[in-house]
Amino acid sequence: MDFGSSKKGSAKDKLTADWLAIRFMPSTSTQSELPKIKVSARGAARLKSGHVWVYRSDVVSADGVLPGALVTVTDQRGKPLGAALYSSSSQIAIRLISHEPVADFPALLRQRIADAIAYRERIVRDTDAYRIVFSEADFLPGLIVDRYNDMLSLQILTQAMDAEPVRSAIIAELSERLHPASITERVDSRVRELESLPPRASGLLHGEKTSTVFTMNHIQFHFDAVEGQKTGAFLDQRENYAAAAQYAHGEALDVFCYQGGFALHLAAKCSHITGVDSSRPALEVADQNAALNQELLGQKEIEWIEANAFDLLKDYSAASRHYDTIVLDPPAFGKTRRDLDAALRGYKELNLRALKMLRPGGILITCSCSYHVGPSDFLEMLGSAAVDARRTLRLIEVRGQAKDHPVLLNVPETAYLKCIIAVVSQ
Ligand code: SAH
Repeated sequence: MDFGSSKKGSAKDKLTADWLAIRFMPSTSTQSELPKIKVSARGAARLKSGHVWVYRSDVVSADGVLPGALVTVTDQRGKPLGAALYSSSSQIAIRLISHEPVADFPALLRQRIADAIAYRERIVRDTDAYRIVFSEADFLPGLIVDRYNDMLSLQILTQAMDAEPVRSAIIAELSERLHPASITERVDSRVRELESLPPRASGLLHGEKTSTVFTMNHIQFHFDAVEGQKTGAFLDQRENYAAAAQYAHGEALDVFCYQGGFALHLAAKCSHITGVDSSRPALEVADQNAALNQELLGQKEIEWIEANAFDLLKDYSAASRHYDTIVLDPPAFGKTRRDLDAALRGYKELNLRALKMLRPGGILITCSCSYHVGPSDFLEMLGSAAVDARRTLRLIEVRGQAKDHPVLLNVPETAYLKCIIAVVSQ
C-alpha cells in the first residue's frame, strides 16, 4: 500500500545505520526530554480529530531534529499532543505513535507487536497466511509484517523503523512470540529513496528458510522470498476469495489473476476457469499453485493467458464471448487524488466490457485497491458502466479488505480495498 507521497532526498542526505542507532540508545528519558516539533493549528486539529499524520506543510519548527527521531509534538503554544516518529524526507513528516509520553520506544514497539499478534489470534480464521502488523492500523507506522505459514516477511517503510535498535526489537519480539523458521525483508527501493535511506537488499534477517507453502481457505500456495522467483500473496483479498467462491458458477474469467488467488478459489465451483495476467512469471507461479491443489481441482484445468487485460476484454467482448463469472482485480490505477478521473475511466472501461460479457444471472466480482477512488466513487462508476452496458446489477456484497488489515476509524487512508460482488439480472 502506498501511504502518501514523499519528497526525493539527495544522496548527501542518505542516512547511515550508525547515525540512526545513536538516537535509539536505550535511555530513561521522559517525554519532556525528547526533541520537540511544533505544528500549526491545522496540524494540531488533525491530530485532535484522531488522525495520526501531520504533513510537512503543517510543521512550524523542527530545528535540529534528526531523521527518524522520536519526538514530542506540541501545538503552537507548546502544549504536548503526543509522541511521534519524525521523517526528515517524507511529506508525512510526523506519524503519531502515542498520546502519552514514550520513554522507551523499543519497549513500546514490542508491546504493540504483541498486541497486533493477539488481535490476529482473535479474528483470523482458515489461514496460516495473514498480515500480522499493518503499519498505522496497528499503531506501528512504517512497519508491515506478513506471515506465510512458518515464515515471516517484513517491510520497513520509514526512517524511524529502519534504525538498527528498532529492527532488533522487531525481530526479537516476532521471534520470541511466533518462533518462525525465518524472517525475510522485502525492500522497496523506491520507498527507501523517498525516505532518504541508503539502498538495501531484500533477504534473510533471521533463520535460513526462503520458501514455503501456505494455506488459505483450504487452498495451497507457494511462497518464495528469494529475489528473482519472489512470490507473495494479496492477503487483503483472502476473505473476498471465499466470498466470491460462494456465488461463482459456470464459465469463469479471472482478469488480473496474478498467481491465481481468485481463479483457484473459484475452481471448485466453476465448469471452466481462465486466468489472465500480463506477467508471465506470475502465471508460471499460478500454474504451480494449481498443481499444488490437484486433488481439489480433479480433472479441471485452469487456462492461463498472458495478455494485456484491456486488449483481451476488448477482443473478447467484440467477439461476443460470454461468461457466468468475471473477476476484475486490477493494480491501483490512481496513486494520487489527481489521477482520480483517469483511474475511474480505466475502471469503467474494464467493468463495462465485463458487464457486456456476463450471461443473465452472471456474477461480477470487481475490485479496486486505489485509496483515492473512494467506495462511493467506485459504486457510482459501476452504476454508470451498468447503464452504458444496458444491464441491471444487484449488489450481493459490498466488501473491503480482510480483517487482518484493520481499518482505523479517523485514518481513512487505512481503508483502501473495495470488492463488490454483484449479479446481472436476467
Ligand atoms: N487478483 C490477484 C491480484 C492482482 S494484482 C490476486 O488476488 O492475487 C494486479 C495484477 O495485474 C498483477 O499480477 C499484474 O501483473 C497485473 N497487470 C497489471 N497490468 C496489467 C494489464 N494491463 N493486463 C493484464 N494484467 C495486468
